[in-house]
Amino acid sequence: MKAPRVIIRDRPRNEIARAFSTGHEKGLEFTMNQPGARVESTAAGAGPDTGMAMDTTVDVAVVGAGPAGLYAAYCAGFRGLSSAVVDVLPEPGGQVAALYPEKRIHDVAGHVGVRGRELIDNLLAQVAPFDPRFLLGRTAASLAPDGRAGWTLGLEGGGRVRAGAVVIAAGLGRSVPRTLPCLRPYEGRGVAYHVPRLDEHRGRDVVIVGGGDSAVDWALALAPIARSVTVVHRRSSFRAHEHGVKQMYAAGIRVLTDAHVTACHGAPRLEEVRVLAGEEESTLPAQALVAALGFITGLGPIAEWGLQVESRRIAVDRAMRTNLPQVYAAGDICTYEGRVPLISVGFGEAATAVNHAVVGLRPGSRLAPEHSTDREAALLS
Ligand SMILES: Cc1cc2nc3c(=O)[nH]c(=O)nc-3n(C[C@H](O)[C@H](O)[C@H](O)COP(=O)(O)OP(=O)(O)OC[C@H]3O[C@@H](n4cnc5c(N)ncnc54)[C@H](O)[C@@H]3O)c2cc1C
Repeated sequence: MKAPRVIIRDRPRNEIARAFSTGHEKGLEFTMNQPGARVESTAAGAGPDTGMAMDTTVDVAVVGAGPAGLYAAYCAGFRGLSSAVVDVLPEPGGQVAALYPEKRIHDVAGHVGVRGRELIDNLLAQVAPFDPRFLLGRTAASLAPDGRAGWTLGLEGGGRVRAGAVVIAAGLGRSVPRTLPCLRPYEGRGVAYHVPRLDEHRGRDVVIVGGGDSAVDWALALAPIARSVTVVHRRSSFRAHEHGVKQMYAAGIRVLTDAHVTACHGAPRLEEVRVLAGEEESTLPAQALVAALGFITGLGPIAEWGLQVESRRIAVDRAMRTNLPQVYAAGDICTYEGRVPLISVGFGEAATAVNHAVVGLRPGSRLAPEHSTDREAALLS
């Protein structure tokens, strides 16, 4: 039995979106392979998913759950197509959720200013009535023609998504956080590279490592919530915007420059870190350490899919078609002359890609969708 339409009516939109994004809502398909993650029953009542080695068949496979990918899934649903959305990250939202969920975005059409997290929650609430299948914490590793369905997307660690069309909305591609050797053993046990939810750090001693905008932004955002915030930066000056750095000092946040973390201690979770600042070594209490050292990005496995790539982006035409039939690209992953890398632009590209995919999947269909204003009753009931 499909549940989301009932939920949409009964709960505030942001609440549904939050439940949807964390997989806590029964009846929504949600699969994760992160350690300790919950695996929910499928909406179709097929019992718990095993997650890793699962096969699924949909009309449209979307690679990437950033703004462009989520909106592509909405557009697919609006045209009556089923979709699956695959993302390497354990949470939907792409760069917005991973890098700046608390920042206000001012240039998304129709929003005077919207927090990153709120924008993603709204995208999730918007797509929820169409039941996309979310495969999070999963890397789309391969793409091969499939005689029956069109394409088979192979997932790292097992499992396949068969689809008639594919929309690649993979943003910057696969991004691997820069780290320090002493941090690795504590990944998931106190060491993190993103702060998806500030509230998780309430009452904690947090050490932030880095000297760029992210480090300063996290420090400012966490200062009122955490018990203590210490920024450890290996240089004497920050790369971040001057205004933020001034705010950080003005807020009384402890800042250690010319300093680096030499060791982490605690079992099973992080309890303290050793920091060498100049000649002086000290021990800081730390139940959380946020490494804001940047990311190494690249196309990752997508580079091997036989797509035409230009400057590490997928070349598309005006219909967002790649060189492969019924494979489209949208958002920051795609390139064409004059492309502007903005969220708003990615939304338009996702809509263009999916509506062209519809015509390919259902020859004779109209390219233009009906107006959503004519579908209000169907979307809300
Ligand atoms: C600090 C900061 C501030 C910004 N501010 C603004 C702003 O004010 N306004 C604005 O318009 N833009 C802003 N941007 C840019 C904006 O965030 C991006 O343009 C937008 O996120 C691109 O959306 P996307 O969906 O194309 O890709 P992304 O958001 O990058 O999402 C792509 C997703 O694809 C996933 N992925 C990649 N490869 C694979 C794979 N092989 N298998 C599975 N999943 C994969 C990734 O994990 C990621 O989640 C900002 C960016 C940053 C970093």
